[in-house]
Amino acid sequence: MTSVTITPAYDRQNGWLEILGPQPDAVVLTGDLEADHVVIGAGYGGLAAARRLAELDPSASVVLIEADRLGNNAAGRCSGFIIDHAHNIRAKGFADDTDNAKRQIALNRAGVDWLDEIVHQQGIECDWRREGKIHAAASEKGEATLAGFAESLDAVDEDYHLYDAAELERRFGTSFYRSGLHAPHSVIVNPASLVIGLASTMPENVQVFESSMVTDFEFGPPHTLRTAQGTVRTPSLVIAANGFGEGFGLFKNSLIPLITWGSMTRPMTAAEVAELGGEDNYAIIPAHPAGTTVRRRPDNRILIRNQYTFSRRSNITRGVEAVKRVHETSFRNRYPMLPDVEFEYSWGGALALSRNGEGVCGKVADGVWATMAYQGTGMAKGTISGKYLAEHMMGDDDPLMGLLAGSPSRNFPDPFNQWGVRMNSRWRRWQAGVEE
Ligand SMILES: Cc1cc2nc3c(=O)[nH]c(=O)nc-3n(C[C@H](O)[C@H](O)[C@H](O)COP(=O)(O)OP(=O)(O)OC[C@H]3O[C@@H](n4cnc5c(N)ncnc54)[C@H](O)[C@@H]3O)c2cc1C
Repeated sequence: MTSVTITPAYDRQNGWLEILGPQPDAVVLTGDLEADHVVIGAGYGGLAAARRLAELDPSASVVLIEADRLGNNAAGRCSGFIIDHAHNIRAKGFADDTDNAKRQIALNRAGVDWLDEIVHQQGIECDWRREGKIHAAASEKGEATLAGFAESLDAVDEDYHLYDAAELERRFGTSFYRSGLHAPHSVIVNPASLVIGLASTMPENVQVFESSMVTDFEFGPPHTLRTAQGTVRTPSLVIAANGFGEGFGLFKNSLIPLITWGSMTRPMTAAEVAELGGEDNYAIIPAHPAGTTVRRRPDNRILIRNQYTFSRRSNITRGVEAVKRVHETSFRNRYPMLPDVEFEYSWGGALALSRNGEGVCGKVADGVWATMAYQGTGMAKGTISGKYLAEHMMGDDDPLMGLLAGSPSRNFPDPFNQWGVRMNSRWRRWQAGVEE
């Protein structure tokens, strides 16, 4: 057996999960099992692949193995924007190839729509809101980026609505922003509730095990996976471990492991809510990609997300105190009228990017498939990638599958890769300026 070289180690500071209260005891993998398909990782990729395999192959047994508690992974730690537009829509030249851009949007929308169908058919309570997102600018540079974004949207025939500073202040309760662009088709949720809901409404032929880290593996087929208390053998394995995929010897030195960070306040008091004003629910994406995401929630908490740091992955939450100080500054800049509102939770989550922007969705060895590396928009893209991968495994490719089957380019060798990522992240923070 080979040891998995990189494994996740998360704390219990994920606000989205902790505000849900105590969860049922974990069902842990014990003893020796056999299954027709095994999926490693209960993020969006793994949840989608397990569900779709079970739907298409109803007589097959499917096992989904998660290292941590459900919802305590990046999938449950993210900011909860199920984004229909490709993330790089703000990038220069995005709309130069409009046909490709439209296909990318169709792909993400297929992910949003499939989640919508599952959430509503299964009655998953995750505060699902198809309200879109507001891209907001706090600087002249940010406003220029928004103008470019609007041009890109025009080029791909997407609808949007522009807001001026007064309208944003009325909605957000703060005068921090100068202008905004509402893109109406994304969905916002509590991501931890969504992950738990997806895992607990699997078809009957799926067994879900949590707190069951795969520590050793042997590729066959049949493949053998070992956890602390059990083993499972299977002829058909899907690795959906995202930032930890390299731990299985896959895409060595091709994925860029990053952490991005969130903080959530305590609930505001009635007096603080009155002092702030504005609407009780909104979702802000920064005009600059290295800026600050904000969500105000109907439970009167506010979420801040910013900063990307290079991750060694085994200790994801190291450095959280320094990150939290930056979050506090971002919060005070936006909400000076709330001097006593503190963060109750601060956390990090691991992402995988690739240098050439391509993800992974396909066969990687005999009887082994993988889905991972969605460039930070894994809620929609990871879901559709997991779904289409399962269909591909069953010999039924969706016409959009070709957009997913990429090949991440190799990184520079370390330490150059780490230096490069760190310098790039500092440069982008500096460029974001007040947008952070
Ligand atoms: C703070 C933050 C904000 C974000 N905001 C957004 C957002 O608003 N919208 C959006 O689309 N994306 C967002 N993202 C990105 C999003 O979280 C990821 O793209 C998404 O979670 C990727 O899904 P995944 O299934 O590939 O990976 P993950 O969610 O990381 O799931 C992989 C799973 O594999 C498990 N695993 C790994 N190794 C093993 C092992 N050895 N044994 C068993 N299990 C293992 C991990 O525990 C994990 O649960 C954000 C991320 C963070 C951290």
